[in-house]
Amino acid sequence: MNPYSILAMRKAFELVKKRQKENIHKIPDLQERLMRLRKVREESVGNSQLMEKTVENLEDSGFNVVFAKEEEDAMEVILKEVEGEDIVVKSKSNVSKEIKLTERLESLGINVVETDIGDRLIQLLKEEPSHPTAPAAHLSLEQIIRELKERFNVELSSADDVVRFLLKDIKKSIELANVGITGANAISSEGSVLILHNEGNIFEILRRQKKWIILSGIDKLYPTLDDALNAIRIQTFFATGQVVPSFIEIVSGISKTVDIEKKLFKGVHNPKEITLILLDNKRSYLMNNGFREMFYCISCGNCVIHCPAHNTFGEEYKGGRLALFSALYGSKSNLKLCLSCRRCKENCPLGLDIAGMVSRVREGSEISNLVYSHLKWLVRNIYLETLTLYLS
Ligand code: SF4
Ligand code: SF4
Repeated sequence: MNPYSILAMRKAFELVKKRQKENIHKIPDLQERLMRLRKVREESVGNSQLMEKTVENLEDSGFNVVFAKEEEDAMEVILKEVEGEDIVVKSKSNVSKEIKLTERLESLGINVVETDIGDRLIQLLKEEPSHPTAPAAHLSLEQIIRELKERFNVELSSADDVVRFLLKDIKKSIELANVGITGANAISSEGSVLILHNEGNIFEILRRQKKWIILSGIDKLYPTLDDALNAIRIQTFFATGQVVPSFIEIVSGISKTVDIEKKLFKGVHNPKEITLILLDNKRSYLMNNGFREMFYCISCGNCVIHCPAHNTFGEEYKGGRLALFSALYGSKSNLKLCLSCRRCKENCPLGLDIAGMVSRVREGSEISNLVYSHLKWLVRNIYLETLTLYLS
């Protein structure tokens, strides 16, 4: 990530922190909500009885629930569902990134179109996301306009122009596709899947796509709808500083009617089929081998915003939970950039000890890692601060 992108990302992160400070008084019972959430996560993550009950209730409501032990198992189900399609539309899903879904489908000639503005932007510009819920936070408007002009020969001059340009392409794809793929923010054991969004794209996918595939880790379970909603409110606040998102979809099965002679007719409107894939992919192993706490995470990204290493090295060190997750599922090499400052823990709404887990995972002696990370951080920061002064 170039230094200008890092400065743009810092600016975007500061805005979120400012909004959090301004709005925190609007959730007077925040501490109580956090304590309840932590307790619920401790009781729900890896709870096989809760999983059994959840699956039973989801299947009763018409969901096709499939367990996928490995990435390949999830891909097998998805490939069956998208057979014969040449385009699918997609919305925020960390699990889809985990299994490299877009790359795999595109290698088979299937066009995968992201429907979130930020995700579509980084997809078109071939960038990496800088935050779990604000993937394009590192791109300045100037850079976006310049790169879109270079790649698509379009003359855009404002943020409105950029959004309109991206929307045109997203809307066309939603109209063309038969299959929509999304993630899930929470799953209640009473049989509901909850998805939050601000842009209205999930609503469009639910309304227009015949088939809906939901990709979720096995760690998204909550005992009740109230608990799931509590998690979503907390995730929204720490991810964006907003008190509530624009939309929360609560889907408890496919559409149905019993209006004709009380006979059940399923799939009145779209989606007519819903497949929920619950991916394990090492989660059970990690939960049982010292990393259970990592799966309490609600993916709010507050640890990423506050991570000084991510705010300095950008993509080179993904920051907080993202850095740990990438290391456990891939290369550990960049973990040596962690400063062990513990700001991720201090700023995690659930107090998750990401810093402690990073120290346990990274290779090499703690002292040499710390000397390396602090020296590199200092040099890079002097450069970034000088650049900020020069630009101001
Ligand atoms: S301990 Fe590491 S991951 Fe956590 S905030 Fe500090 S630099 Fe980031
Ligand atoms: S570790 Fe904590 S702060 Fe980071 S994404 Fe997860 S819940 Fe949010």
